[in-house]
Amino acid sequence: MQIQSIHFQKRSSAAIANPETQKRMASLGFAQRRAERVTEFGAAAFEAQRDAAEAIRNRSIADLATWIERFETEATSRGATVLFASDAKEVGERVIEVCRRHDLKKAIKSKSMLSEEADLNRVLAAAGVQPVETDLGEYICQLADDPPSHIIAPAMHKSQDEIADLFVKHHGTPRLDRAEQLTREAREKLREHFLSADLGISGGNFLIAETGSVALVTNEGNGRLVTTMPRVHIAITGIEKVVPTLEDLSTLMRLLPRSATGQNISNYFSVLTGTRDADSSEGPEHLYFILVDNGRANLVGSELQDMLRCIRCGACMNHCPVYKTVGGHSYGWVYPGPMGSVLTPAFMGLEAALDLPHAATLCGACSVVCPVKIPLPELLRSLRERQVDAHLRPGGERLALKLWSMVADIPWLYAHLTRWGARALRLLGGTRGMITRLPLAGGWTDGRFFPAPQPGGTFRDRFAARRR
Ligand code: SF4
Repeated sequence: MQIQSIHFQKRSSAAIANPETQKRMASLGFAQRRAERVTEFGAAAFEAQRDAAEAIRNRSIADLATWIERFETEATSRGATVLFASDAKEVGERVIEVCRRHDLKKAIKSKSMLSEEADLNRVLAAAGVQPVETDLGEYICQLADDPPSHIIAPAMHKSQDEIADLFVKHHGTPRLDRAEQLTREAREKLREHFLSADLGISGGNFLIAETGSVALVTNEGNGRLVTTMPRVHIAITGIEKVVPTLEDLSTLMRLLPRSATGQNISNYFSVLTGTRDADSSEGPEHLYFILVDNGRANLVGSELQDMLRCIRCGACMNHCPVYKTVGGHSYGWVYPGPMGSVLTPAFMGLEAALDLPHAATLCGACSVVCPVKIPLPELLRSLRERQVDAHLRPGGERLALKLWSMVADIPWLYAHLTRWGARALRLLGGTRGMITRLPLAGGWTDGRFFPAPQPGGTFRDRFAARRR
């Protein structure tokens, strides 16, 4: 997928101005459902699971090479082949090598963010292999030639009307206007592909080192068809997805569906191990794992290492006020929301995603809901610091921050200036007491207004008065 993150400001402005985006974002119900599941589970018990999950993921990352080696040994002993790809280009090359080796012509795919990183559909099509997305949201995105806008609800930017139009155009069928009818039509179309494909490509939510297995969490059942019907299955995952044991997997699975979609358990949960037995009629004859680095190994030992704990649940974006306003396409690459604002600059370089570390209010909601306790606001702050150190921020902004830090070091001057500032803002607020425009900060007030400070002094004045 071509990275467009450098255009975050332009893309987010367009999304804010689009009432359809705002309507779609308002319909995101995952946060509410997560809260209900946490209450059912018991807040204290849920916290204990988060602590355990954090420890499991830290243990996996601390000894990543050992667990990957164990995974490779176990998977190979059960008939699978483990391949490695150092970057996105190599992912495509490995997949095409497998296609040529087994003379494969049609690939059915279940949702895989790694395949988006590698722009795999275009690579497959260029090599003469027909890719067909089978997750309903991904299928809609493929028909529309759109990238996903949410990691677990990829087509959430599309309205039902738009989907109906797409189906008429691509299926050549009469227009349907009910969601169930559209789903049934997609299912009928996809069934033909399930029956005729010779390759299944999936992602992997987790790799289990002790058994050499891949765990898949889906809600539509397509994952099982993709991984068991074609004669060849390729599972593509990041190297950081490995966990030591099945016991670890069970802890993480208590958190993943509850954090992601607000479900106690997803509709389908599969743990796939090895190739088809000689006396079995199910499962692939050939199983390949492609373990992808693409920037991940560089994070080990860096101040961004905590990000490798991510289990791609999407809870951080479901709770992020910025994501909920600008939508997923604004972020311009595979991963949106707070996790994307860390991962995109980490994988693709700070220069390629200048505004993403700033696309956050640092309210902390993301880290409060993260099932593996990733301190996202701290990581975003650290990326901001790196940008300043590397002189990547505009000169005016750096000068303003320098002045601010000088003033903040002199308490009496800071107190005077904030007092004058509050008075100036009150004047700007006029009789309505609302600030709708700010000199030199138009970007701030273009999309929002806020109340002018009330008479009675600054926060510091009031705090001092109260203490007295
Ligand atoms: S950063 Fe945390 S909340 Fe966000 S997707 Fe990853 S695991 Fe989920």
